Amino acid sequence: MIGLVLAAGAGRRLRPYTDTLPKALVPVGAQDAPEAVSVLDLTLGNFAEIGLTEVAVIVGYRKEAVYARRAEFEEKYGLKLTLIDNDKAEEWNNAYSLWCGRDALKDGVILANGDTVHPVSVEKTLLAARGDGKKIILALAGDRMPVLTRLFPSPIVMDIRAGALDDLAGVLADQRISDSGRLAVAVSRGYGAQLRERLAPSLPAATWFEVGGGTLDEAVDLADRMKSGDFDAVVGIGGGKIIDCAKYSAARIGLPLVVVPTNLSHDGICSPVSNLDNDAGRGSYGVPAPIALFIDLDVIREAPLRFVRSGIGDALSNISAVADWELDHRVNGEKIDGLAAAMARQAGEAVLRHPGGCGDDGFLTVLSEGLVLTGIAMSIAGHTRPSSGACHEISHALDLLYPRRAAAHGEQVGLGAAFATYLRGDHDGSRLIVEGLRRHGLPVVAEEIGFSDEEFVRAVAFAPETRPGRYTILEHLGLSAEGITEAYAGYVAAAGRPV
Ligand SMILES: [Zn+2]
Repeated sequence: MIGLVLAAGAGRRLRPYTDTLPKALVPVGAQDAPEAVSVLDLTLGNFAEIGLTEVAVIVGYRKEAVYARRAEFEEKYGLKLTLIDNDKAEEWNNAYSLWCGRDALKDGVILANGDTVHPVSVEKTLLAARGDGKKIILALAGDRMPVLTRLFPSPIVMDIRAGALDDLAGVLADQRISDSGRLAVAVSRGYGAQLRERLAPSLPAATWFEVGGGTLDEAVDLADRMKSGDFDAVVGIGGGKIIDCAKYSAARIGLPLVVVPTNLSHDGICSPVSNLDNDAGRGSYGVPAPIALFIDLDVIREAPLRFVRSGIGDALSNISAVADWELDHRVNGEKIDGLAAAMARQAGEAVLRHPGGCGDDGFLTVLSEGLVLTGIAMSIAGHTRPSSGACHEISHALDLLYPRRAAAHGEQVGLGAAFATYLRGDHDGSRLIVEGLRRHGLPVVAEEIGFSDEEFVRAVAFAPETRPGRYTILEHLGLSAEGITEAYAGYVAAAGRPV
Protein backbone atom coordinates (compact mmCIF):
# COMPACT_ATOMS: atom_id res chain seq x y z
CA MET A 1 0.00 0.00 0.00
CA ILE A 2 1.14 3.49 -0.78
CA GLY A 3 -0.14 6.93 0.10
CA LEU A 4 -1.83 9.09 -2.54
CA VAL A 5 -2.41 12.83 -2.27
CA LEU A 6 -4.60 14.83 -4.67
CA ALA A 7 -2.98 18.26 -4.75
CA ALA A 8 -3.48 19.61 -8.26
CA GLY A 9 -6.31 22.14 -7.84
CA ALA A 10 -5.91 25.88 -8.22
CA GLY A 11 -7.43 26.88 -4.89
CA ARG A 12 -8.89 30.13 -6.19
CA ARG A 13 -10.89 30.75 -3.03
CA LEU A 14 -7.65 30.98 -1.06
CA ARG A 15 -6.17 33.79 -3.13
CA PRO A 16 -3.82 35.57 -2.64
CA TYR A 17 -2.20 32.72 -0.66
CA THR A 18 -2.46 30.47 -3.70
CA ASP A 19 -1.11 33.00 -6.20
CA THR A 20 2.29 31.30 -6.09
CA LEU A 21 1.60 28.07 -4.20
CA PRO A 22 -0.75 25.13 -4.61
CA LYS A 23 -3.23 24.80 -1.74
CA ALA A 24 -1.32 21.88 -0.27
CA LEU A 25 1.75 24.06 0.33
CA VAL A 26 0.03 27.07 1.87
CA PRO A 27 1.26 27.32 5.47
CA VAL A 28 -1.41 26.54 8.05
CA GLY A 29 -1.37 27.14 11.78
CA ALA A 30 -0.23 30.07 13.88
CA GLN A 31 1.37 32.93 11.98
CA ASP A 32 4.27 33.18 14.45
CA ALA A 33 4.93 29.43 14.57
CA PRO A 34 8.70 28.72 14.44
CA GLU A 35 8.32 26.49 11.40
CA ALA A 36 5.74 26.93 8.64
CA VAL A 37 3.77 23.71 8.26
CA SER A 38 1.64 23.00 5.19
CA VAL A 39 -1.25 20.58 4.72
CA LEU A 40 1.08 18.39 2.67
CA ASP A 41 3.53 18.31 5.62
CA LEU A 42 0.78 17.13 7.93
CA THR A 43 -0.42 14.47 5.51
CA LEU A 44 3.07 13.13 4.75
CA GLY A 45 3.77 13.07 8.50
CA ASN A 46 0.60 11.00 9.02
CA PHE A 47 1.56 8.58 6.24
CA ALA A 48 5.06 8.14 7.73
CA GLU A 49 3.58 7.52 11.17
CA ILE A 50 1.37 4.66 9.97
CA GLY A 51 4.40 3.05 8.33
CA LEU A 52 4.03 3.90 4.66
CA THR A 53 7.26 4.27 2.70
CA GLU A 54 5.95 5.44 -0.67
CA VAL A 55 3.67 8.31 -1.56
CA ALA A 56 2.41 9.56 -4.92
CA VAL A 57 1.26 13.17 -5.19
CA ILE A 58 -0.89 14.33 -8.10
CA VAL A 59 0.27 17.85 -8.92
CA GLY A 60 -0.95 20.45 -11.38
CA TYR A 61 -1.47 24.08 -10.45
CA ARG A 62 1.89 25.59 -9.36
CA LYS A 63 3.38 22.12 -9.41
CA GLU A 64 6.93 23.53 -9.68
CA ALA A 65 6.67 24.51 -6.01
CA VAL A 66 6.12 20.84 -5.08
CA TYR A 67 8.92 19.65 -7.36
CA ALA A 68 11.24 22.18 -5.70
CA ARG A 69 10.60 20.70 -2.27
CA ARG A 70 10.43 17.02 -3.18
CA ALA A 71 13.89 16.08 -1.91
CA GLU A 72 13.32 18.02 1.30
CA PHE A 73 10.04 16.19 1.94
CA GLU A 74 11.61 12.78 1.15
CA GLU A 75 14.34 13.37 3.66
CA LYS A 76 12.16 14.92 6.33
CA TYR A 77 9.50 12.18 6.34
CA GLY A 78 11.59 9.21 5.18
CA LEU A 79 9.30 8.60 2.20
CA LYS A 80 9.86 8.01 -1.50
CA LEU A 81 7.84 10.65 -3.28
CA THR A 82 6.51 10.20 -6.84
CA LEU A 83 4.99 13.28 -8.46
CA ILE A 84 2.34 12.69 -11.13
CA ASP A 85 1.35 15.56 -13.41
CA ASN A 86 -2.26 16.49 -14.06
CA ASP A 87 -2.13 18.82 -17.05
CA LYS A 88 -5.87 19.61 -16.82
CA ALA A 89 -5.79 20.74 -13.21
CA GLU A 90 -7.24 24.15 -13.94
CA GLU A 91 -9.98 22.88 -16.25
CA TRP A 92 -11.26 19.65 -14.70
CA ASN A 93 -11.99 18.64 -11.13
CA ASN A 94 -10.23 16.20 -8.88
CA ALA A 95 -11.98 13.16 -10.33
CA TYR A 96 -9.51 13.61 -13.20
CA SER A 97 -6.66 13.87 -10.69
CA LEU A 98 -7.68 10.49 -9.37
CA TRP A 99 -7.70 9.15 -12.94
CA CYS A 100 -4.12 10.47 -13.40
CA GLY A 101 -3.12 8.37 -10.40
CA ARG A 102 -4.86 5.19 -11.61
CA ASP A 103 -1.59 3.22 -11.94
CA ALA A 104 -0.85 3.88 -8.31
CA LEU A 105 -4.22 2.45 -7.24
CA LYS A 106 -3.44 -1.17 -8.24
CA ASP A 107 -1.63 -2.12 -5.08
CA GLY A 108 -3.97 -0.28 -2.79
CA VAL A 109 -3.71 3.27 -1.57
CA ILE A 110 -4.67 5.38 1.33
CA LEU A 111 -5.96 8.58 -0.22
CA ALA A 112 -5.93 12.10 1.14
CA ASN A 113 -6.93 15.40 -0.38
CA GLY A 114 -4.15 17.97 -0.47
CA ASP A 115 -6.32 20.56 1.24
CA THR A 116 -7.71 18.57 4.15
CA VAL A 117 -6.11 19.08 7.54
CA HIS A 118 -6.67 15.94 9.60
CA PRO A 119 -5.03 14.06 12.48
CA VAL A 120 -3.31 10.71 12.02
CA SER A 121 -6.22 9.07 13.84
CA VAL A 122 -8.09 9.30 10.52
CA GLU A 123 -5.53 7.08 8.76
CA LYS A 124 -5.41 4.76 11.77
CA THR A 125 -9.20 4.42 11.80
CA LEU A 126 -9.24 3.65 8.08
CA LEU A 127 -6.56 0.95 8.43
CA ALA A 128 -8.35 -0.62 11.39
CA ALA A 129 -11.57 -0.85 9.38
CA ARG A 130 -10.03 -3.07 6.69
CA GLY A 131 -11.07 -6.67 6.12
CA ASP A 132 -14.21 -8.61 5.20
CA GLY A 133 -13.52 -8.02 1.52
CA LYS A 134 -14.15 -4.28 1.79
CA LYS A 135 -12.91 -2.54 -1.32
CA ILE A 136 -13.32 1.10 -0.40
CA ILE A 137 -13.44 2.58 3.08
CA LEU A 138 -14.44 6.21 3.57
CA ALA A 139 -13.65 8.40 6.55
CA LEU A 140 -16.52 10.73 7.48
CA ALA A 141 -15.90 13.78 9.67
CA GLY A 142 -17.45 14.28 13.08
CA ASP A 143 -18.98 11.93 15.58
CA ARG A 144 -22.46 13.18 14.72
CA MET A 145 -23.47 13.58 11.12
CA PRO A 146 -26.20 16.10 10.33
CA VAL A 147 -29.24 14.00 9.51
CA LEU A 148 -30.88 16.46 7.15
CA THR A 149 -29.91 19.82 5.80
CA ARG A 150 -31.66 21.83 3.21
CA LEU A 151 -30.28 23.99 0.48
CA PHE A 152 -32.14 26.87 -1.01
CA PRO A 153 -31.16 29.33 -3.69
CA SER A 154 -29.92 32.62 -2.33
CA PRO A 155 -27.58 35.32 -3.60
CA ILE A 156 -23.89 34.77 -2.91
CA VAL A 157 -23.32 38.52 -2.86
CA MET A 158 -25.69 40.98 -1.26
CA ASP A 159 -24.39 44.53 -1.05
CA ILE A 160 -26.86 47.11 0.29
CA ARG A 161 -25.45 50.55 1.12
CA ALA A 162 -24.88 54.04 -0.20
CA GLY A 163 -22.27 53.86 -2.96
CA ALA A 164 -22.58 50.09 -3.53
CA LEU A 165 -22.49 50.61 -7.31
CA ASP A 166 -18.97 52.02 -7.23
CA ASP A 167 -17.66 48.57 -6.30
CA LEU A 168 -19.84 46.55 -8.68
CA ALA A 169 -17.09 45.60 -11.14
CA GLY A 170 -14.57 44.76 -8.44
CA VAL A 171 -16.95 42.61 -6.41
CA LEU A 172 -18.17 40.68 -9.45
CA ALA A 173 -14.60 39.83 -10.47
CA ASP A 174 -13.53 39.07 -6.92
CA GLN A 175 -16.43 36.67 -6.39
CA ARG A 176 -15.59 34.83 -9.64
CA ILE A 177 -19.02 35.66 -11.00
CA SER A 178 -17.22 37.22 -13.89
CA ASP A 179 -13.47 36.80 -13.98
CA SER A 180 -13.27 38.03 -17.55
CA GLY A 181 -15.60 41.00 -17.08
CA ARG A 182 -17.72 39.84 -20.04
CA LEU A 183 -21.14 40.83 -18.77
CA ALA A 184 -24.39 41.29 -20.64
CA VAL A 185 -25.93 44.34 -19.02
CA ALA A 186 -29.62 45.13 -19.53
CA VAL A 187 -30.56 48.75 -18.81
CA SER A 188 -33.58 50.94 -19.33
CA ARG A 189 -33.50 53.72 -21.89
CA GLY A 190 -34.12 56.46 -19.33
CA TYR A 191 -32.33 56.41 -16.02
CA GLY A 192 -30.44 53.28 -17.02
CA ALA A 193 -28.67 55.20 -19.77
CA GLN A 194 -27.39 57.65 -17.17
CA LEU A 195 -26.11 54.82 -15.00
CA ARG A 196 -24.47 53.29 -18.04
CA GLU A 197 -22.41 56.44 -18.50
CA ARG A 198 -21.31 56.23 -14.91
CA LEU A 199 -20.57 52.49 -14.85
CA ALA A 200 -19.20 51.86 -18.34
CA PRO A 201 -15.61 52.94 -17.53
CA SER A 202 -15.37 50.35 -14.73
CA LEU A 203 -16.88 47.59 -16.92
CA PRO A 204 -14.82 47.84 -20.12
CA ALA A 205 -15.60 44.30 -21.32
CA ALA A 206 -19.36 44.58 -20.76
CA THR A 207 -21.91 44.68 -23.59
CA TRP A 208 -24.90 46.93 -22.99
CA PHE A 209 -28.43 46.12 -24.05
CA GLU A 210 -31.19 48.70 -23.90
CA VAL A 211 -34.57 47.34 -22.89
CA GLY A 212 -37.88 49.11 -23.29
CA GLY A 213 -40.63 47.53 -21.26
CA GLY A 214 -41.68 44.40 -19.49
CA THR A 215 -43.24 42.21 -22.15
CA LEU A 216 -42.57 38.56 -22.84
CA ASP A 217 -41.66 39.39 -26.45
CA GLU A 218 -39.02 41.84 -25.30
CA ALA A 219 -37.58 39.37 -22.81
CA VAL A 220 -37.32 36.69 -25.51
CA ASP A 221 -35.76 39.19 -27.90
CA LEU A 222 -33.25 40.24 -25.24
CA ALA A 223 -32.29 36.59 -24.67
CA ASP A 224 -31.76 36.14 -28.42
CA ARG A 225 -29.54 39.20 -28.60
CA MET A 226 -27.51 38.07 -25.57
CA LYS A 227 -27.18 34.51 -26.80
CA SER A 228 -24.76 35.46 -29.55
CA GLY A 229 -22.16 36.80 -27.11
CA ASP A 230 -19.83 34.86 -24.81
CA PHE A 231 -20.88 36.16 -21.40
CA ASP A 232 -20.24 35.11 -17.80
CA ALA A 233 -23.43 36.61 -16.40
CA VAL A 234 -26.41 38.85 -17.07
CA VAL A 235 -26.72 42.09 -15.11
CA GLY A 236 -30.11 43.81 -14.89
CA ILE A 237 -29.97 47.47 -13.92
CA GLY A 238 -33.26 49.31 -13.56
CA GLY A 239 -36.80 49.17 -12.24
CA GLY A 240 -39.13 46.20 -12.00
CA LYS A 241 -39.70 45.83 -15.75
CA ILE A 242 -36.00 45.72 -16.61
CA ILE A 243 -35.22 43.32 -13.77
CA ASP A 244 -38.08 41.02 -14.81
CA CYS A 245 -36.87 41.08 -18.43
CA ALA A 246 -33.30 40.34 -17.33
CA LYS A 247 -34.47 37.54 -15.02
CA TYR A 248 -36.34 35.83 -17.82
CA SER A 249 -33.53 36.28 -20.37
CA ALA A 250 -30.84 35.00 -18.00
CA ALA A 251 -32.94 31.93 -17.25
CA ARG A 252 -33.55 31.32 -20.95
CA ILE A 253 -29.85 31.36 -21.87
CA GLY A 254 -28.72 29.65 -18.67
CA LEU A 255 -26.56 32.42 -17.22
CA PRO A 256 -26.43 33.64 -13.62
CA LEU A 257 -28.20 36.91 -12.95
CA VAL A 258 -26.95 39.94 -11.06
CA VAL A 259 -29.65 42.44 -10.12
CA VAL A 260 -29.13 46.13 -9.52
CA PRO A 261 -32.54 47.64 -8.73
CA THR A 262 -32.87 51.38 -9.13
CA ASN A 263 -35.99 51.56 -7.00
CA LEU A 264 -37.60 49.62 -4.16
CA SER A 265 -41.17 49.54 -5.36
CA HIS A 266 -41.89 45.83 -4.72
CA ASP A 267 -40.56 42.50 -3.50
CA GLY A 268 -39.67 41.13 -6.95
CA ILE A 269 -36.04 42.25 -6.56
CA CYS A 270 -34.82 38.84 -5.47
CA SER A 271 -37.83 36.64 -6.11
CA PRO A 272 -37.79 33.53 -8.34
CA VAL A 273 -40.58 34.96 -10.47
CA SER A 274 -40.55 37.12 -13.60
CA ASN A 275 -43.79 39.01 -14.28
CA LEU A 276 -44.18 39.85 -17.95
CA ASP A 277 -47.03 41.09 -20.11
CA ASN A 278 -48.06 38.60 -22.76
CA ASP A 279 -50.88 38.23 -25.27
CA ALA A 280 -53.20 36.92 -22.58
CA GLY A 281 -52.52 39.83 -20.22
CA ARG A 282 -49.83 39.10 -17.72
CA GLY A 283 -47.89 35.97 -16.92
CA SER A 284 -45.73 34.92 -13.96
CA TYR A 285 -42.75 32.84 -15.04
CA GLY A 286 -40.60 30.83 -12.63
CA VAL A 287 -36.90 31.69 -12.92
CA PRO A 288 -33.77 31.04 -10.83
CA ALA A 289 -33.18 33.55 -8.03
CA PRO A 290 -30.41 36.11 -8.63
CA ILE A 291 -26.83 35.13 -7.78
CA ALA A 292 -25.84 38.63 -6.67
CA LEU A 293 -27.60 41.78 -5.70
CA PHE A 294 -26.45 45.38 -5.35
CA ILE A 295 -28.71 48.06 -3.90
CA ASP A 296 -27.12 51.49 -3.91
CA LEU A 297 -29.09 53.67 -1.48
CA ASP A 298 -27.94 56.84 -3.27
CA VAL A 299 -29.50 55.51 -6.48
CA ILE A 300 -32.69 54.52 -4.61
CA ARG A 301 -32.99 58.05 -3.21
CA GLU A 302 -32.91 59.50 -6.73
CA ALA A 303 -36.06 57.58 -7.68
CA PRO A 304 -39.42 59.24 -6.96
CA LEU A 305 -40.53 58.89 -3.35
CA ARG A 306 -43.67 56.99 -4.34
CA PHE A 307 -41.49 54.01 -5.33
CA VAL A 308 -40.11 53.69 -1.80
CA ARG A 309 -43.64 54.08 -0.44
CA SER A 310 -44.83 51.30 -2.70
CA GLY A 311 -42.06 49.02 -1.42
CA ILE A 312 -43.13 49.78 2.15
CA GLY A 313 -46.72 48.74 1.38
CA ASP A 314 -45.52 45.52 -0.27
CA ALA A 315 -43.29 44.66 2.70
CA LEU A 316 -46.03 45.40 5.27
CA SER A 317 -48.47 43.21 3.34
CA ASN A 318 -46.31 40.17 4.25
CA ILE A 319 -47.73 40.31 7.78
CA SER A 320 -51.24 39.80 6.45
CA ALA A 321 -50.15 37.29 3.78
CA VAL A 322 -48.47 35.04 6.35
CA ALA A 323 -51.56 35.28 8.60
CA ASP A 324 -53.68 34.11 5.63
CA TRP A 325 -51.26 31.25 5.00
CA GLU A 326 -51.54 30.20 8.64
CA LEU A 327 -55.32 30.41 8.43
CA ASP A 328 -55.25 28.07 5.42
CA HIS A 329 -53.01 25.75 7.44
CA ARG A 330 -55.39 25.73 10.43
CA VAL A 331 -58.56 25.31 8.42
CA ASN A 332 -57.45 23.14 5.48
CA GLY A 333 -54.18 21.63 6.65
CA GLU A 334 -52.30 23.50 3.92
CA LYS A 335 -48.56 22.86 4.30
CA ILE A 336 -46.79 25.83 5.80
CA ASP A 337 -43.04 26.36 5.57
CA GLY A 338 -41.97 27.79 8.91
CA LEU A 339 -38.70 29.26 7.67
CA ALA A 340 -40.27 30.99 4.69
CA ALA A 341 -43.10 32.30 6.88
CA ALA A 342 -40.61 33.57 9.48
CA MET A 343 -38.47 35.39 6.93
CA ALA A 344 -41.43 37.06 5.26
CA ARG A 345 -43.12 38.04 8.52
CA GLN A 346 -39.92 39.42 10.06
CA ALA A 347 -39.34 41.48 6.93
CA GLY A 348 -42.78 43.05 7.33
CA GLU A 349 -42.46 43.54 11.09
CA ALA A 350 -39.02 45.16 10.77
CA VAL A 351 -40.30 47.70 8.25
CA LEU A 352 -43.44 48.29 10.34
CA ARG A 353 -41.52 48.99 13.52
CA HIS A 354 -38.50 50.87 12.18
CA PRO A 355 -38.72 54.47 13.41
CA GLY A 356 -36.89 55.98 10.42
CA GLY A 357 -38.26 57.71 7.33
CA CYS A 358 -38.10 57.12 3.57
CA GLY A 359 -34.87 59.06 3.07
CA ASP A 360 -32.72 57.58 5.86
CA ASP A 361 -29.95 55.08 5.17
CA GLY A 362 -31.06 53.05 8.19
CA PHE A 363 -34.67 52.74 7.11
CA LEU A 364 -33.84 52.15 3.43
CA THR A 365 -31.43 49.38 4.44
CA VAL A 366 -34.10 47.61 6.48
CA LEU A 367 -36.64 48.04 3.67
CA SER A 368 -34.16 46.71 1.06
CA GLU A 369 -33.27 43.74 3.24
CA GLY A 370 -36.95 43.10 3.90
CA LEU A 371 -37.78 43.01 0.19
CA VAL A 372 -34.80 40.75 -0.55
CA LEU A 373 -35.66 38.35 2.28
CA THR A 374 -39.23 38.23 1.02
CA GLY A 375 -37.93 37.11 -2.39
CA ILE A 376 -35.81 34.41 -0.75
CA ALA A 377 -38.81 33.32 1.33
CA MET A 378 -40.70 32.75 -1.95
CA SER A 379 -37.77 30.68 -3.26
CA ILE A 380 -37.84 28.58 -0.10
CA ALA A 381 -41.60 28.07 -0.17
CA GLY A 382 -41.69 27.51 -3.93
CA HIS A 383 -44.68 29.85 -4.30
CA THR A 384 -45.76 33.38 -3.42
CA ARG A 385 -47.79 32.64 -0.29
CA PRO A 386 -45.22 34.20 2.11
CA SER A 387 -45.94 37.57 0.51
CA SER A 388 -49.34 37.29 -1.10
CA GLY A 389 -52.76 36.67 0.43
CA ALA A 390 -56.03 38.58 0.57
CA CYS A 391 -53.98 41.81 0.37
CA HIS A 392 -52.81 40.85 -3.11
CA GLU A 393 -56.12 39.40 -4.23
CA ILE A 394 -57.74 42.79 -3.50
CA SER A 395 -54.96 44.57 -5.42
CA HIS A 396 -55.28 42.22 -8.41
CA ALA A 397 -59.03 42.85 -8.40
CA LEU A 398 -58.48 46.62 -8.51
CA ASP A 399 -56.02 46.11 -11.41
CA LEU A 400 -58.48 43.97 -13.35
CA LEU A 401 -61.67 45.94 -12.67
CA TYR A 402 -60.18 49.42 -13.05
CA PRO A 403 -57.07 48.92 -15.22
CA ARG A 404 -56.60 52.57 -16.06
CA ARG A 405 -57.08 53.82 -12.54
CA ALA A 406 -55.03 51.36 -10.56
CA ALA A 407 -52.61 52.90 -8.06
CA ALA A 408 -49.08 51.66 -7.27
CA HIS A 409 -48.89 47.95 -6.34
CA GLY A 410 -47.59 48.67 -2.84
CA GLU A 411 -50.27 51.28 -2.16
CA GLN A 412 -53.00 48.80 -3.04
CA VAL A 413 -51.56 45.81 -1.18
CA GLY A 414 -50.77 47.95 1.90
CA LEU A 415 -54.40 49.06 2.12
CA GLY A 416 -55.50 45.50 1.31
CA ALA A 417 -53.34 44.17 4.16
CA ALA A 418 -54.76 46.63 6.71
CA PHE A 419 -58.34 45.75 5.70
CA ALA A 420 -57.69 41.98 5.54
CA THR A 421 -56.15 42.12 9.01
CA TYR A 422 -59.29 43.92 10.22
CA LEU A 423 -61.45 41.22 8.60
CA ARG A 424 -59.43 38.58 10.42
CA GLY A 425 -60.62 40.18 13.65
CA ASP A 426 -57.15 41.41 14.54
CA HIS A 427 -58.12 45.03 15.08
CA ASP A 428 -54.95 45.90 17.00
CA GLY A 429 -52.83 44.46 14.21
CA SER A 430 -54.83 46.38 11.64
CA ARG A 431 -54.38 49.62 13.60
CA LEU A 432 -50.59 49.05 13.67
CA ILE A 433 -50.48 48.58 9.89
CA VAL A 434 -52.69 51.66 9.39
CA GLU A 435 -50.33 53.71 11.56
CA GLY A 436 -47.33 52.40 9.64
CA LEU A 437 -48.93 53.28 6.29
CA ARG A 438 -49.92 56.74 7.51
CA ARG A 439 -46.48 57.47 8.93
CA HIS A 440 -44.89 56.91 5.52
CA GLY A 441 -47.57 58.80 3.60
CA LEU A 442 -49.34 55.74 2.16
CA PRO A 443 -53.09 55.55 1.60
CA VAL A 444 -55.21 53.84 4.23
CA VAL A 445 -58.70 54.08 2.74
CA ALA A 446 -59.85 53.57 -0.85
CA GLU A 447 -60.79 57.17 -1.54
CA GLU A 448 -57.14 58.17 -1.08
CA ILE A 449 -56.28 56.20 -4.23
CA GLY A 450 -59.30 57.47 -6.10
CA PHE A 451 -61.86 54.70 -5.49
CA SER A 452 -65.29 55.18 -3.96
CA ASP A 453 -66.32 52.89 -1.12
CA GLU A 454 -68.68 51.06 -3.51
CA GLU A 455 -65.91 50.48 -6.03
CA PHE A 456 -63.61 49.15 -3.34
CA VAL A 457 -66.32 46.84 -1.99
CA ARG A 458 -66.87 45.53 -5.51
CA ALA A 459 -63.15 44.78 -5.83
CA VAL A 460 -63.07 42.94 -2.49
CA ALA A 461 -66.06 40.85 -3.56
CA PHE A 462 -64.34 40.00 -6.86
CA ALA A 463 -60.90 39.41 -5.26
CA PRO A 464 -61.18 35.63 -4.61
CA GLU A 465 -61.64 35.05 -8.33
CA THR A 466 -58.24 36.53 -9.10
CA ARG A 467 -56.42 33.63 -7.43
CA PRO A 468 -58.53 30.49 -7.78
CA GLY A 469 -57.48 27.86 -5.28
CA ARG A 470 -55.93 30.28 -2.82
CA TYR A 471 -57.54 30.35 0.61
CA THR A 472 -57.42 33.61 2.55
CA ILE A 473 -59.66 35.43 4.99
CA LEU A 474 -61.83 36.45 2.02
CA GLU A 475 -62.59 32.85 0.99
CA HIS A 476 -62.85 31.90 4.67
CA LEU A 477 -65.55 34.46 5.47
CA GLY A 478 -67.27 34.30 2.08
CA LEU A 479 -68.85 37.71 2.72
CA SER A 480 -71.68 39.09 0.61
CA ALA A 481 -71.43 42.62 -0.79
CA GLU A 482 -73.49 43.80 2.19
CA GLY A 483 -71.17 42.03 4.59
CA ILE A 484 -68.12 43.63 2.96
CA THR A 485 -69.77 47.06 3.00
CA GLU A 486 -70.46 46.74 6.70
CA ALA A 487 -66.97 45.48 7.49
CA TYR A 488 -65.38 48.23 5.42
CA ALA A 489 -67.43 50.88 7.22
CA GLY A 490 -66.15 49.49 10.52
CA TYR A 491 -62.58 49.51 9.20
CA VAL A 492 -62.85 53.12 8.00
CA ALA A 493 -64.35 54.21 11.29
CA ALA A 494 -61.38 52.66 13.09
CA ALA A 495 -58.75 53.91 10.63
CA GLY A 496 -60.22 57.41 10.21
CA ARG A 497 -60.91 59.22 6.96
CA PRO A 498 -58.04 61.34 5.62
CA VAL A 499 -58.20 64.96 6.71
ZN1 LIG B 1 -46.50 42.32 -3.88
